Parts: sequence; C-alpha cells; structure tokens
Amino acid sequence: MERTHIENLSESAGKEVLVKGWVNIRRDHGKLIFIDLRDATGTVQMVVLPNHIDAQKQADAVRPEWLIEVKGIVNKRPEKMVKEGEQNGNIEIEATEISVISESENPPFTLSENTIDVGEEVRLKYRYLDLRSERMQKNMRIRSEFVQKCREYLFKKKFTEIETPLLTESTPEGSRDFVVPSRLNPGKFYALPQSPQQYKQLLMVGGFERYFQIARAIRDEDLRGDRGFEHTQIDIESSFVTQNDILNLVEEMIIETVESMGHTIKEKPFPRISYKDAMEKYGADKFDLRTEEDKEKGILAYAWVVDFPFFEKTKDGKWTFSHNPFSMPKDECIADLLAGENIENIMTQQYDLVCNGFESGGGSIRSHRVDILKAVYKIMGNSEEETEDKIGHMLEAFKYGTPPHGGIALGVERSIMNLTGEDSLREVQSFPMTRGGQTSVMNAPKELTPEQLIELHLKTDHGKNNK
Ligand code: ASP
Repeated sequence: MERTHIENLSESAGKEVLVKGWVNIRRDHGKLIFIDLRDATGTVQMVVLPNHIDAQKQADAVRPEWLIEVKGIVNKRPEKMVKEGEQNGNIEIEATEISVISESENPPFTLSENTIDVGEEVRLKYRYLDLRSERMQKNMRIRSEFVQKCREYLFKKKFTEIETPLLTESTPEGSRDFVVPSRLNPGKFYALPQSPQQYKQLLMVGGFERYFQIARAIRDEDLRGDRGFEHTQIDIESSFVTQNDILNLVEEMIIETVESMGHTIKEKPFPRISYKDAMEKYGADKFDLRTEEDKEKGILAYAWVVDFPFFEKTKDGKWTFSHNPFSMPKDECIADLLAGENIENIMTQQYDLVCNGFESGGGSIRSHRVDILKAVYKIMGNSEEETEDKIGHMLEAFKYGTPPHGGIALGVERSIMNLTGEDSLREVQSFPMTRGGQTSVMNAPKELTPEQLIELHLKTDHGKNNK
C-alpha cells in the first residue's frame, strides 16, 4: 500500500490509508487512545479503538517522537467534534494497525509545544529535534518559498545563477575575515568571502550582464540578534544599469514575492528618502514606518535610503568607505574625488533597502573606471603599491572593456525575520550558532590535533598572549 502524506488525507475520506510519522501527542482515555501524528506535511488525529487489540497494544507502548507506521480508515468527524480552521479538523484516522519504525528516547524538550522559551543551549544542541517543531518547520519552509520565488523572478528577467569561490582573498565589507590556512603554501591564508562583491563585478567584465547567486556571506562580526557569522544574501549584479533600474527591479521582485506569499505592503512604490533626510527625521538610516496597528496586522513597510556620503572618519581620523569602496560617486562629485578634495561632501550612488526597522539590503552602482577606484583608495590612505596589492586584480580587469554596472544584496535572514515576525536570525536558520559562536549540534570551533597543526604550518598559544 502506498503512503499518503498527512496533508492529502482529506481526499481519502472513507478509504483505507497508510501514513508514517512521529507521535506528536498521545492521550490515553482508557478505552480510547488518541495519537496526534505528524509528518513533514502536517498533523492528524488518530483514534485507536478497543476492538483493534494489537493496535491498542502498540498505541499503549508508543511515546512522543516515536516514528510509527499506521494503517487505518479516514473517517469524517462527528459534527460537534469538527475543529474549524484546523488542518484535518474535519477528519480523523481510525487506526487498525500500528507498527513502530523507530523508537525515540524521551526528547529533552516537548516538540508539540512552542520551543521559543527552551534554553538556547539545549535547543541548539538538539537542533534536529527543535526543527521538528511547528514553528521551525514553518520558518524554514517560508524561507525556502521566499528564495524560490526570488529565484524564479530573476530567471524570468534573464539573470544567470553563478556560484563564486568560498576560498578567496579578503574583500572589504567592513567586518573581520574568517581565514583558512593553506597546507600547500606555508604561512599563507585564504579568506572566506564577506560577500561575492569582487567576483560578481568580475562576472560583469566576463560578459554575463545579469548575475545572481543565493550566496553565503561570512563575517567575523560581534554577534547580535540580527547578526551571525554566516548569513545568506540574494546577490545581484547587472551591467548597463542606472540606480533606478536596480531599485525598480528589486522592488518589483519583492512586491511580487511577498504579496504572493500573502503579505501586505504599506506603501507602493517604496518611499525613497535621502540619507540626510532619514538622519534628520528618524535619527538613523534604518527606521520603522509602521504604526502600532500596522505591526499588529503584520504589514511590511519598505523604504529606500539613497544619497549616502562616500566616506566617513575612522577613530584615528583617517577616511574610510561608509558602505562600499567599489561604489561610484555621484556624477557631480567625481571631480572632487579625483582631486581628493571636499571629501566629507562626496556622495555615492549607494542605496539601502529598509524594512520594518531593519536594513534588509544594500548595493550600489560601481566605479568601473580605474582612475576613480585608485582615487578612492588614495583617499583612504593607501599608497599606489598598497592599492595595487589590495585591488590590483580589479584595476587590471577594468582595463579590458568593462561595462558600467551595479547591483545589490538582499539579506535572506532579515527578510524572513520580517515575514515571520521573528526577532532573531537564529529562528530562521537551520543550524545557527549560539551567541557565543559555538555551532549547533556539532562541536566547533575546536582544537586541531598536533598532526593537523604541523601539516598546516601553525603554532597556537591557546590565547595565552591575549592582552
Ligand atoms: N556587497 C554588498 C554587501 O554584501 C552588497 C552590494 O553592494 O551588492 O552588503
């Protein structure tokens, strides 16, 4: 007999079915035993009657999270037992045969209830169990649907999905790098990408014109609710575009995607506000445009922030980029940039997408001109040799007929936090880290064996020399 998924049971009313799933809740009412069974598609109530003697014996033995296989008849529930609005609220399975596929230890927390208040350490140690809970199942599926819809939209617009390397050279996104020692090159290290920024620009030199990637970005950040070491971004780059082209494209993608997922957007087209006005009006470049009522209704309030200053001062008084060293100054600021003058007033063609108080994306039109890129690095205090060392490969590539280009990256986790109302990125990632940077389930970071250290040409002081 073929297995029926729980979401399809209502089509089988009156028929015999075979279902497989985990015991969500078991209620023993003496003569009747009720089991709520859960598979990847939902839950259903089963009743085991006393006349099915063997099934009753098994139902007696099973406990939450045991995986069982059940044969039974799909019955319509009596009128007064119907639970309106609940999945399978109008049916139940009368179980005739139950067999155990896989027993379960008593789980460390109850999976049929919301796990949000379970201690983080236990939840992440047993993340594979936590993932069975209704909320985590829902969040991961919403994430999958969001990404799928964005991907479909971009394919429709003739974008090509291209992967870029993970073992690479440092690319500046204003965070620290995670590095990987090279066994073959003693004393040398790869950096994991803080973003695919340089590769996606090189793909424009490579003639693709429209690129996207569901890209992993890895940054050694101070961990917060909306920041982890790893996040995923919908990374986009396109040639021959203006700032407006990118904003319109992304806006349309988001509107199509989130509305088709049943969400309401507060204002369309998304309001556009300059950085200066945002700072004056909201005191920050990310802000929440929702009223209390909007919040209750789960409304999404998007806005674009544009016209950012290119540079900001570091603690030691030098200039650094405010968002992205590869971005293009506004046309009217190019002369100042090339001359290294009036630096605080140089504006860039950078844009951020804000949603419900989060920065949920950012990008820019890039400087595809060698002289502009060199001038940016000079303002940031680099000698010609230092610039060459850092971005020589970009300067070289840009000598070969480089199209003007620009792009954006949208944070997947932050988008899903907005769609689900979660306030931590850990709730929308499958295997997130603890706040202390420890992996869930697995035990990393951990020490290497002496043999591995030798092979990698590394010595460690185990933190003894930390100041
Ligand atoms: N590389 C930028 C980031 O990761 C996005 C972009 O400018 O396209 O935030």
